[in-house]
Amino acid sequence: MNASHHKPKWKRVVVKLSGEALQGGQTHGLDAKTLDRIAEDLDAAAALGVEIAVVVGGGNFFRGIQGADKGIERARADSIGMLATVMNALALEYALEKRGRAARALSAVPMPALCEPYSRQTALHHLGKRRVVILAGGTGNPFFTTDTGAALRGAELSCDAIMKATQVDGVYSADPKKDPNATRYERLTHDEAIAKNLAVMDTAAFALARENRIPIIVFSLAAPRAISSALSGQGRATLVAP
Ligand code: UDP
Repeated sequence: MNASHHKPKWKRVVVKLSGEALQGGQTHGLDAKTLDRIAEDLDAAAALGVEIAVVVGGGNFFRGIQGADKGIERARADSIGMLATVMNALALEYALEKRGRAARALSAVPMPALCEPYSRQTALHHLGKRRVVILAGGTGNPFFTTDTGAALRGAELSCDAIMKATQVDGVYSADPKKDPNATRYERLTHDEAIAKNLAVMDTAAFALARENRIPIIVFSLAAPRAISSALSGQGRATLVAP
C-alpha cells in the first residue's frame, strides 16, 4: 500500500472513549495494559499529524443512572459520574506522557490541583502545540453524557469528525451481542440515526453533531491501533454523515 492510503482523512478530531474501554478484562476500574495499548494507539494517531481531543467517559467507575437507582438524587449522582471521568483522564494523561507524547487533561469541572480547568481557548492552545488534549467532566453539567460532551467539544473546537470508539465495528440495527438478526450499517445520516433510535450514542449527541454537520465515525477499539487505522479510513466503521 502506498503512503497516501495512510494519510489521515481529518486534521482535528475528537475521540470518544467510554470508561469501559479502559477497564480491559476487569469488571470495573482501570487496566494498566489496556491504558498502555490505547495510549500507544493515540500516540500513533497523533504521529500522523492529527490534532486529537479525547473525551473520556466514567462508566468503569460510576454512572449517574446507577446512583439514581440506589436513591442518590440524579444531579448529585451525575456529579459523582463526572468525577469518575476525571480519574480516567488523569490515568490516560499519564499513560501518554510515559510514552513521551505530550498530553493535557482539562476538566469541565474545575479541579486546579489535579489538572487545568477546561476552556475552549486552553484546549485550542494545547491542540495547536500538538498536545493530546484529554477532556474530563463531560459537559460539566448533570443530566448529560460524555457522548454529548464529545459532540459539544467537537463543535466548539471545530473538529472535522467525532471518532466514537465502541466494542463493535459500527452501528447495528439492534445490539449484535443480543440479536443474531442485527444488521450493520455502512453509512447513515444523522437523521436516520435519530429516527431509528440507534443506541450507539444518545439523541442529544446525534442532534448536536447534526446541527453542526460533524460526521461521526463509529468503530471498534478491539483491533490493534484501531484509532489510528480509523483515522486513515482503514478498517470497518460506520460513517454517520449528512
Ligand atoms: N456525566 C454528567 N455530565 C456530563 C457527562 C457525564 O453528569 O456531561 C456523568 C453521568 O452521571 C454519567 C457519568 O458522568 O453517567 C459517566 O459518563 P458516561 O456515562 O457518559 O461514561 P461512559 O458510558 O462513556 O463510560
